Amino acid sequence: SATAQPLSGGHGTMSFGTLVVLRDVTREYLARQAGNDFVAHVSHELKSPLNVIGMYAEMLADSDDESMRVESLNVIQDEIERMNALVGNLLNVSKLETGSMSPERNRVRLDDMLRDAYEQALPRAEGKQLRVLLDLPRELEAVAIDKDLFRIALNNLLTNAIKYNRPGGSVTLAARNEDNEIVISVRDTGIGIAPEAQDRIFEKFYRVSEAGAATQRGGHGLGLYLAAQIVELHHGRLVVESEPDVGSTFSVHLKIVSAPAGAAVL
Ligand code: ADP
Repeated sequence: SATAQPLSGGHGTMSFGTLVVLRDVTREYLARQAGNDFVAHVSHELKSPLNVIGMYAEMLADSDDESMRVESLNVIQDEIERMNALVGNLLNVSKLETGSMSPERNRVRLDDMLRDAYEQALPRAEGKQLRVLLDLPRELEAVAIDKDLFRIALNNLLTNAIKYNRPGGSVTLAARNEDNEIVISVRDTGIGIAPEAQDRIFEKFYRVSEAGAATQRGGHGLGLYLAAQIVELHHGRLVVESEPDVGSTFSVHLKIVSAPAGAAVL
């Protein structure tokens, strides 16, 4: 298992000594490298869907065949959705990196958000012949989170659990109280992640290319980067456990925040 590290570390790690400092420098270097390639990378990511849209728009204009026209429209819609997802994610990345996304943390119980996320995942999973399960304790302790930001992180984990799954598989969204933390986990019975890739999946634009698994499934390698950054903003931990061909579990650990006397839980 591996823990997500922020790309711009360097705070509060003195007691671990030089090793951690060296590692952070490496990560900053990697982040700068990623920045240099950024424009090229994004241009490329936008160019391929635009090419596809162009091709199918031409077919739409030229063909009288009804089923061909429907098919073309479907492809165009899919590609637009992909571009939309990319641009939405990029906006969020940019807001996080410029620090203009300042989290507004409130003390909440996550039950409702988890139930909503579960319900939204149901129809998406059904289309892929997946079961979705929700596993909550009777009472979940409260945590301090920015709901909007946290929803993005949770949604990205669920999207992946559906995307990298296999027909007949399942996705389990669970939460539990554990010592002074609550642990929210998203478990799938999907393709899993090779041990050597587990450290890298939180990097910006990183995708596992093995057997074209990732490239055939859409996406741009930003989902986990964003999720890790958001969890980091909440001073939490994001942990992955995964076994190839068996499945993956992503767990978010957040500190339980006990109520000041007389305070309401939102
Ligand atoms: P993407 O948009 O490619 O899904 P992410 O940042 O969300 O980007 O994930 C990075 C990579 O990590 C993915 O391309 C995929 O190879 C791998 N990955 C993420 N989640 C899972 C999962 N639940 N099961 C297997 N592989 C995963």
